[in-house]
Amino acid sequence: MTPPEPSSDLMRYIAMLASREPAGGFLELRYRNPQGPGMQQHFHYATNTTRIARHILTLAEHSDVYIGVAPRRSRNGGRAAVSRSWVLWADIDTPGAEQNIAALPIAPGVIIRSGSAGHQHLYWPLTEPLTPADVEHANGTLAHALGADTGAVLGAATILRPPGTLNHKHTPPSPVTAERVDLRGHPAADILHGLPALERPTPPRETHTRNGSDPLLAIEPARYVEILTGQTVPRHRKIHCPLHEDSTPSLHVYEQPQNGWHCYGCNQGGTIYDLAAHVWGLGTRGKDFIQLRQRLTDLLLPGHTVNHDIDTRRNGPARNGRTATRVHAHEIIVDDPAGLNEHREFDPDRELDVVADGHNGTPAGATSGGPAVTSPGDPPGY
Ligand SMILES: [Zn+2]
Repeated sequence: MTPPEPSSDLMRYIAMLASREPAGGFLELRYRNPQGPGMQQHFHYATNTTRIARHILTLAEHSDVYIGVAPRRSRNGGRAAVSRSWVLWADIDTPGAEQNIAALPIAPGVIIRSGSAGHQHLYWPLTEPLTPADVEHANGTLAHALGADTGAVLGAATILRPPGTLNHKHTPPSPVTAERVDLRGHPAADILHGLPALERPTPPRETHTRNGSDPLLAIEPARYVEILTGQTVPRHRKIHCPLHEDSTPSLHVYEQPQNGWHCYGCNQGGTIYDLAAHVWGLGTRGKDFIQLRQRLTDLLLPGHTVNHDIDTRRNGPARNGRTATRVHAHEIIVDDPAGLNEHREFDPDRELDVVADGHNGTPAGATSGGPAVTSPGDPPGY
């Protein structure tokens, strides 16, 4: 069977979610199992835009299809697998929303009609990605300003319907359509400018990562990049990459330590450890890593005592397993010559990020910071 030809709206929608994600990231598709109860998950490399689009359209012929709005760093749909999101979003199902949208400082670049009357998903592409906690806070601020759903749909691991699919809750199934697809990004601060500030929720558990005790991982990327490369990080935050011949600055220096740095020329990136290892010609494991951390501490945190017992030594320097993911991703490529990642049965006992359906009587789910769990087989409602 010839795969369906994806529309440019679907291709651009996928690109918005994932095209800037550093190598090794996944997009999650979740869909109802046409052969039985429950949902199934499928993880694609985030850069395989065309393959993802074709798979979405093939699945959509028989099933409700959802996509993880934030890329995953491992083949897991939970919030812990999310390192960053490239968009903010809101879920609107009230008739008077147009006025509220018009009152926002920046209009949503992308509007998807989810196939039920009045339901719209709004997206704001970002110039810089946000961490899960920050994206949830920003989504909450937008939702309050819009009078939109403030339930679990705001969570970083949310799955939503991509355009070009069908909403099978209706008979006949109704199309999920793109009303606007404008991918121009804005800084989160501009999108939220002047909106009533939400109180910060108590930090979710994930902020206490195993690397939380490593002060080197808390240093702003601009600071360590300048010291390690000798280049000044300009306003546009791009410098000449020291890892490859780079005539135009293609190494982006993110603001937050958890986002680190990424070169869009040679597709390398990571933490302070990854950059120092490249610059100094060291590895990131074993003795090399101990030396790496000692030299970085001497250079950037003079007077600080290195605690060799912290977990980064055992696990390598990668934040959220970034290095591990890269290795793992390589294994997947080798195992997967056909290019299709494995299908995996959806296991309702695993940590789920599926949001409860607030529109058909089931509970509206948890607040941001904790996953809402549906009963097995209960499809999300957006
Ligand atoms: Zn490079």
